[in-house]
Amino acid sequence: MNKKALAKPCPCGRPATLARCCAPLIAGQRHADTAEALMRSRYSAYVLGAADYLCATWHASTRPATLDLTDSPRWIGLQVLAAPPADGERATVEFDARYRVHGRACHLHELSRFVREDGRWYYVDGAIQPD
Ligand SMILES: [Zn+2]
Repeated sequence: MNKKALAKPCPCGRPATLARCCAPLIAGQRHADTAEALMRSRYSAYVLGAADYLCATWHASTRPATLDLTDSPRWIGLQVLAAPPADGERATVEFDARYRVHGRACHLHELSRFVREDGRWYYVDGAIQPD
């Protein structure tokens, strides 16, 4: 990650720089302590094109064999709508992510599921929510 990007506001929308928010997670310097933190860091990883981190935080049961981000849209904003306290080793995060495709503004409203194994959170899958 370059220094300029690290000094900018974190793509995940928290009021902190990337360096103080999602970068240490994406760089593997520390692990997300909540499913919401993991979800936010994965969103930032999509913005930054950090495919390795996305795979590393994807649960083995649902992880794709390869992840190609070349065709991914331009992500322009994240809003976490609900992140209830974890139910044991499981948690959900509901979010709305805005993106652009060919100049057109779109958004993704998803309920993501996460599981914690050996103290680490993993993304399992997500269900698109009706508007
Ligand atoms: Zn962040």
